[in-house]
Amino acid sequence: MPNFDESIASDLEALRASGLWRELRTVDSPQGREISIGGEHFLNFSSNDYLGLANSEGLKEASVKALQDFGSGSGASRLICGSLKPHSDLEQRLAEFKGTEAALSYSSGFLASFGSIQALVGPNDISVIDKLVHASIVDGVRLSGAKMRIFKHNDLNSLSEILWWADRQPKGRVLIITESIFSMDGDRAPLREIVELKEKHGAWLMVDEAHGTGLYGQHRRGVIEELGLSERVEVQMGTLGKAIGAAGGYICGSRNLIDYLINKARSFIFSTAPVPASAAAACAGIDMVRSKDGERRCGRLWLRVRQLQEEMTGISQTTQSLSAINPIIIGSEQMAVDASALLRQNHCFVPAIRYPTVARGTARLRLTLSADHTKNDVQLVAGELRELRRLVGSFKPTIEK
Ligand SMILES: *Cc1c(COP(=O)(O)O)cnc(C)c1O
Repeated sequence: MPNFDESIASDLEALRASGLWRELRTVDSPQGREISIGGEHFLNFSSNDYLGLANSEGLKEASVKALQDFGSGSGASRLICGSLKPHSDLEQRLAEFKGTEAALSYSSGFLASFGSIQALVGPNDISVIDKLVHASIVDGVRLSGAKMRIFKHNDLNSLSEILWWADRQPKGRVLIITESIFSMDGDRAPLREIVELKEKHGAWLMVDEAHGTGLYGQHRRGVIEELGLSERVEVQMGTLGKAIGAAGGYICGSRNLIDYLINKARSFIFSTAPVPASAAAACAGIDMVRSKDGERRCGRLWLRVRQLQEEMTGISQTTQSLSAINPIIIGSEQMAVDASALLRQNHCFVPAIRYPTVARGTARLRLTLSADHTKNDVQLVAGELRELRRLVGSFKPTIEK
């Protein structure tokens, strides 16, 4: 048997050698447009707090109130010790917001996907996923034991071929899973066409709106709302930790779906409920998103997104659809890390994203914008990126399919 320390140390060495080493940086300020690391200030272009709610007064007040009214802990899992009111309030609000019969909250988006997939499909079923879906989806399908089939990124022909193949398999469930806005590329899935395909084949569809919720559609419910597909998507998944400004995950759908998950989703059943303050913050976050203020914040975000797209014309191919996520593909893992370090020297915090988050050789900077960024902030980081490109030579224009 290998020696514990030596074995782990040699794996770590391999990570370092291939530019894949990751480490935590302690931020000694709240999350926001500006963060402080080791007493040094950085303009923050790394967060998914798209609407700037994570450190906003409304959410903080709601958390404090729940802390005072319901305590700091939640005691046990909700099926064991009773379900605290902030959690049922949150779920009622979620269902209202999304316009679904019911909702279920989880302690994270990761666990919402992971546990729900494992509940919905098993070894006699098939799950068909986009090549670029989040790790929580891949892991959920793996754990479920369902046959996993991967379609080329956003490629309807590839999806269709797999669905024709699935039609010829022994009877079982077929669950298609994709994201509305892809987390590392910022592009969007052709959801309308995917819905049509899944209906034609009698399959089910789960859509991860982690980066859509709070930002798209008339009521900012997500891309599903924008496209008018709410009635036609069986499982709507999302996180409370991005535009909503808190933490946790959710599934929205029919009453039967939610009852089914309460009975079958192991990541829900066997885990202590999130603290009441977290549920209350999420609830306030949803209220904020739905409010006039939420609408204004969203408007400010899109202004900055358009500005960045204009500033980056001819420098990097940003996605043409409106998205707060701007990938700047560098290619080599080490060069992406170096580029991020260079930007940090100039007080811009733009993280390098590498394998296994993205495919090998497609390492990138992932620049995210928030409603709180100013015109100046965007000008400044665009200037830094132009300078960087001069040093690097070029940014790769294409994304991996
Ligand atoms: C962030 C993310 C998740 C996980 O949500 P958490 O609440 O952070 O656990 C799931 N899917 C996608 C696409 C994400 O970007």
